[in-house]
Amino acid sequence: MKHHERVPLIPIARGEGVWLYDFEGRRYLDGISSWWVNLFGHNNLRINRAISDQLGKFAHTMLAGCTHEPVIELSERLSALTGGKLGHCFYGSDGASAIEIALKMSFQYWRNCGHSGKDRYISLQNGYHGETIGALSVTDVRLFKDTYAPLLRPSEQMPTPDTRRAEPGESPRDFAFRCARSLAAWLEEHGDETAAFILEPLVQCAAGMAMYDAEYLRQARALCAQHQVHLIADEIAVGFGRTGTFFACEQAPVTPDFLCLSKGLTGGYLPLSVVLARPEIYQAFYDDDIAHGFLHSHSYTGNPLACRAALATLEIFGEDKVIESNQGKAKAMREATRAIAQHAKVKNFRQCGMICAFEVETDDPHFGEHFREQATAAELLLRPIGNTVYFMPPYVIDAAEIEVLASRTLKIIDST
Ligand SMILES: *Cc1c(COP(=O)(O)O)cnc(C)c1O
Repeated sequence: MKHHERVPLIPIARGEGVWLYDFEGRRYLDGISSWWVNLFGHNNLRINRAISDQLGKFAHTMLAGCTHEPVIELSERLSALTGGKLGHCFYGSDGASAIEIALKMSFQYWRNCGHSGKDRYISLQNGYHGETIGALSVTDVRLFKDTYAPLLRPSEQMPTPDTRRAEPGESPRDFAFRCARSLAAWLEEHGDETAAFILEPLVQCAAGMAMYDAEYLRQARALCAQHQVHLIADEIAVGFGRTGTFFACEQAPVTPDFLCLSKGLTGGYLPLSVVLARPEIYQAFYDDDIAHGFLHSHSYTGNPLACRAALATLEIFGEDKVIESNQGKAKAMREATRAIAQHAKVKNFRQCGMICAFEVETDDPHFGEHFREQATAAELLLRPIGNTVYFMPPYVIDAAEIEVLASRTLKIIDST
């Protein structure tokens, strides 16, 4: 609040593609997809049309005792994207609610199966899973967590395979194996008390775009199966093509027990989240005893407008062959950022699909704020995490816009 007395908020009047416009006609390239949600630009006609069409039918109905075409179609299409392995969908309204659903469902699965002692959760160091009480309990970001510590349930953090932490000369893959050995040791001792291991596959975004080798996912999948611990893949940020594949888990490849999706799910238009689960999990709740059911609901669960936005988003993935065409864009991003990667003040330049990130060496304790101000002046909407600057643009970004993003960022690095 105080910061904005000095640096005013950016009042957004409208958006078009990767650009946001204020009321004076100034524009800002949305280099972070409005916090990792937007996929196909602002004011996307195809998504607009789908929402308008649904609006002409009905905007919302409860999903208890009622159902509707958009939610059924979306569930079937999402399940098909997992090769049918995650055959059931449970909807929430935003990312954190999906995490709460997965955590509760995992615990109750074990309880319904007669293992009520499995009530602990493990997650990765520096992991981020949202900010409601349950999600914050498995999050490991001190700034968000410390104040509420007395309210939170303790959870255990496993060493992060974040490649920046590897020993000099140690390959990302070897480091992944080393971190997996710590996970194995923990599970060996505490597997029977543990319900689930939750992680962000391939990129821990809020940790500052910490990237790691897919080998860790393979190891984690095998170890969780061996110790009867659920693997919850939080793909809220990395799903929908951000890492180069539709789901990040495909790069291992692994199938988690629970897959949490939100953010890009509706193309960045409307709040919606979903937890996909394996059929065995569904079966454990399929019972005459109502107490064995999953008694969890949100009023706007499966909102039809949001589902139609999500269906339009999936439509675009198919029609425009987005995953394939993003390979060219990712390459263009790599080339356009070469001078940044080689800059004397830049460390750890890394890229995973449509995400680029690097650290800037600086003595400025307010680097993030100052960088942001200069970016705004240069028509870029960027928001560093600490001294980590990253790009996660909407996929509609073109070569010229990639160039604008990279060259203007380079100038800011030079001047800081
Ligand atoms: C953003 C995010 C969440 C929380 O989603 P909200 O919609 O902000 O509640 C959870 N997990 C990850 C990995 C995220 O990036």
